[in-house]
Amino acid sequence: MKPIVVKKFGGTSVGDLGRIRNVAKLVRSFKEENPDKEVVVVVSAMAGETNRLVSLARECVKQPNPRELDVLLATGELASSALTAMSLQEEGLSARSFDGYLARINTDEHHTNAKIQSIDGELLQRFLATGGVPVVAGFQGVTPSGDFTTLGRGGSDITAVALAAALSAEACYIYTDVEGVYSADPRVCRRVRRLDRVCHEEMFELASLGAKVLHPRSVYFAMRYGVPLAVLSTFNPTRKTWIVKEGELMEKPVVTGVTYRLDDIKVTVSGMPTGGDALSTLFTELADADVFIDVITQSEAVGERMNISFTVPEESSDRVIALLKNLLPRLGASDYSIDRDIAKVSIVGVGMRYHAGVASKAFAVLGAEGIATRMISTSEIKLSVVIDRKYCEVAVRALHDAFVELEPGTEITVGAEK
Ligand code: ADP
Ligand code: ASP
Ligand code: MG
Repeated sequence: MKPIVVKKFGGTSVGDLGRIRNVAKLVRSFKEENPDKEVVVVVSAMAGETNRLVSLARECVKQPNPRELDVLLATGELASSALTAMSLQEEGLSARSFDGYLARINTDEHHTNAKIQSIDGELLQRFLATGGVPVVAGFQGVTPSGDFTTLGRGGSDITAVALAAALSAEACYIYTDVEGVYSADPRVCRRVRRLDRVCHEEMFELASLGAKVLHPRSVYFAMRYGVPLAVLSTFNPTRKTWIVKEGELMEKPVVTGVTYRLDDIKVTVSGMPTGGDALSTLFTELADADVFIDVITQSEAVGERMNISFTVPEESSDRVIALLKNLLPRLGASDYSIDRDIAKVSIVGVGMRYHAGVASKAFAVLGAEGIATRMISTSEIKLSVVIDRKYCEVAVRALHDAFVELEPGTEITVGAEK
């Protein structure tokens, strides 16, 4: 069997028929230049299609049934995989589309946010052995009972890296609309640094904290299964960012990247009893309802009472509100409130492990801009602050200016065209 490479093309890369034809040409050139390699293509839905399908479902009913929503969403990638396969055939290649079932991407039953349990690559291997180019529909899988599932927004990256792991591919290339991973979202910072290498830990944090250029689970798979992973542009694939082991980094700047998330809300439960099991009851109930908690802060107790605040993804907002309404009397708490007007801005870098004073500098930078921090959380390689949403972009730019050095030749001055 020849060495395999996986090439994943995101939504913008397959955004219209011209761009799909461009992808087909890129794959054909690769095959011509690398006759000793097999290639597996993974595609996202055409840009905007998944959003369109989500809106359509919400227009149809207030709360779409998750199983049916997955059937609907899976059609986005089905369409782009079929169109890409047709275009590859037009380029003279033997190509065939594979949906989540044919590609044997087995997931759990957690509709709209399913996790891949296993991949049986045999059918794909057999097609590859005939010299064929499989075009796998990203973002989807099937449950043990044969229902379609989807992997969460941005999930085609996971399909690509998981397939690369299952097929023992030589490398996985994520083709997108920017030339790799930058020190900040080029849509927010006009001058950013393009990174040649980022280590798994940093990339996982950057992705989890909002840099949607890669899905965090795809980074996890790459790290867990040792898949060489690169990000590059479909439109100018000359440079790329490699996601590597920390030991392979040439340099460890204190801050590698600045990122932000606008998808969280802040929940405050006030008048919580300080003793007893109120805290554990609250967080156990939230965990049982599948709510992911992020930053938690606790106010100083006044008498026997305190306030507790935490952030959760916006999408779990309805579940959290329903739960708190029932739970307040049991907790012995007086009230709760929700703040949707927040942003979480983070700085990430493995170099933070070896440097003191990062937090003090970050707070000084934010203070100089008149930005108040509402919550703070840190780990060895990141510092996150929750601030008022209106200051998000100012905070990203100010922290980027303060922490990221731009070297001539490594910075870009404009974002890519969407
Ligand atoms: P695709 O459709 O190809 O999967 P995405 O829109 O999911 O592409 O991800 C690419 C986008 O990620 C870029 O257009 C860019 O705006 C955004 N992005 C956010 N943070 C970063 C970063 N640090 N480096 C590169 N891109 C970033
Ligand atoms: N089409 C899906 C989305 O828009 C998956 C992906 O693009 O990776 O989230
Ligand atoms: Mg993406």
